[in-house]
Amino acid sequence: MKRTGLLTAILLMASLFPVMAQTQGPKTKVIAHRGAWKNTGAPQNSIASLQEAIKLGCFGSEFDVHLSADSVLVLSHDHVIQGVDIEKATAAQLAAVKLSNGESLPTLEAFLKEGLKQSKTRLVLEIKASKVSKERSLALTTKAVQMVKALKGQALVDYISFDYDVCKRVKALDPSAKVAYLNGEKSPEQLAEDGLYGLDYHQSVLKKNENWIKEAQQKNLTVNTWTINQREMMDWMLERNVDFITTDEPEQLLNILKSGR
Ligand code: MG
Repeated sequence: MKRTGLLTAILLMASLFPVMAQTQGPKTKVIAHRGAWKNTGAPQNSIASLQEAIKLGCFGSEFDVHLSADSVLVLSHDHVIQGVDIEKATAAQLAAVKLSNGESLPTLEAFLKEGLKQSKTRLVLEIKASKVSKERSLALTTKAVQMVKALKGQALVDYISFDYDVCKRVKALDPSAKVAYLNGEKSPEQLAEDGLYGLDYHQSVLKKNENWIKEAQQKNLTVNTWTINQREMMDWMLERNVDFITTDEPEQLLNILKSGR
């Protein structure tokens, strides 16, 4: 009887191990950089690229936000799109800009409304610093946070910026907001002191300061890195258990993670 009991216990444990290995899974999560555009044909920073990132099951989809001359928030990576300088253009002029798939240049409002129809893919909102003035960067920040609140999107929207004053302004406006800094020169200690959610640094910064990865995580900061499109660098980051990888190749990274490496 005793032996049977022991055997049963061993068999039970053996059968549980693969389940445990599966449920533990890889920790790193995929953020689509400017949406999922490269392999889908959707334009960067379009509503279509967000829909593709959601369809893929990305943990997050990143996008860039600027402020028009008449204070409307719109999506674009560059300050000038199709010859139109966003900060000097009106919302009406910007609405006339058509992306390659026929979409109008998205407003933040339209984009968030689409993104908030679901709750699985996080919306990673990059606040682009103004080329005109710090005041405009901060005005953009206030408007963006207000819009997220008005649309009840706080639980799904994260913020990132190269401008540290912008990061701190987001925290002042919404203390519960998850804010990560992009520029790379601040230590994890400094970011933790200022109550940030994490660092989101270029791969070269993390290669040079490898110890920052662990240091940040020990301080309960998340570690994100960009823009990782090569397998070798994906592996380097995965081996170091970064929290997020921002990539133009979300399909490839998702497949690597699914295969369990
Ligand atoms: Mg960006």
